[in-house]
Amino acid sequence: MTNTPIYFLDLFEDNRIYIKREDMIPFSFGGNKARKAVRFMKEAKEKNADCIVTYGSFSSNHCRIIANAAAQAGLRCYMISPESEEVESFNSDLTALFGAVRVICPLDRVKETIDETLAQLEAEGRRPYFIMGGGHGVPGTEAFVECYEEIREYEKEQDIFFDYIFHASGTGTTQSGLVCGQWIAGEERKIIGISIARKNPRGRDVVLESAEEYLQFAKIPYEKEELEKILHFTDEYINGGYGKSNEKIQTVIRENMIKYGIPMDETYVGKAFWGMKEWMQKEGIRGKNVLFIHTGGTPLFFDFLRRE
Ligand SMILES: *Cc1c(COP(=O)(O)O)cnc(C)c1O
Repeated sequence: MTNTPIYFLDLFEDNRIYIKREDMIPFSFGGNKARKAVRFMKEAKEKNADCIVTYGSFSSNHCRIIANAAAQAGLRCYMISPESEEVESFNSDLTALFGAVRVICPLDRVKETIDETLAQLEAEGRRPYFIMGGGHGVPGTEAFVECYEEIREYEKEQDIFFDYIFHASGTGTTQSGLVCGQWIAGEERKIIGISIARKNPRGRDVVLESAEEYLQFAKIPYEKEELEKILHFTDEYINGGYGKSNEKIQTVIRENMIKYGIPMDETYVGKAFWGMKEWMQKEGIRGKNVLFIHTGGTPLFFDFLRRE
């Protein structure tokens, strides 16, 4: 279900830009959270869970997908969210439609609220399954090792090799999966995570930690220094932080919708696409095969349109 299309998009500065459409995963408007959710829900089922607990803003792609997947499986979903992040959006409307139970708490009490919610459910004889915010964790990473494999299959079929892979990097799970995929395949190329909020060194360290966690889990040998060498996380395009946009990002979003018919949002994909172009210009990249991974967020594109 998750083998998403890859195709040639355009020429940019003499580079051939391809795109992988993770936003076209056919579940709840797709995106990287949908790819991760498949794995988490499978594990929840294996563990015979009877409800789901997760964390995130009701406006997040993660909460939309998990609320939908839980409702589909007939499991109640408890969604812990800091009060400051309550804004009306298409994602929050959808999350409400799926009937998720909202547990609102102060920002500095998130951890306690998660623990209390889990403890209370267990005391009631329930079997909750906890999913970290953003779909962080080994199943999330594994989902993107699989994505990397799909990219390799496409390359084999089409007799092409992508010198660069760009994508929006947030909690780092998507990137850690891709980097683990590259590590396993032992290939020379650059995967560049465009940070949408986090700064270095923390941003890069979180990706590294997730990658190590996965490789240890999968019993795949690695050297930390070597792994670090293939990890490229740039914080040059965060543009003031999470959700912060600018006129250039907005122009890229409008252009891409008109030129390619592809919706992109300001928080993740539009920002990353803009960052990719800036980076390639700055580095003087020419004549390369480049893959951009569209990681989803379609409902956020509609929020953007409505605000326009
Ligand atoms: C969450 C998200 C990302 C970031 O993915 P991480 O695995 O958290 O790094 C990128 N794009 C979209 C649309 C997202 O929803």
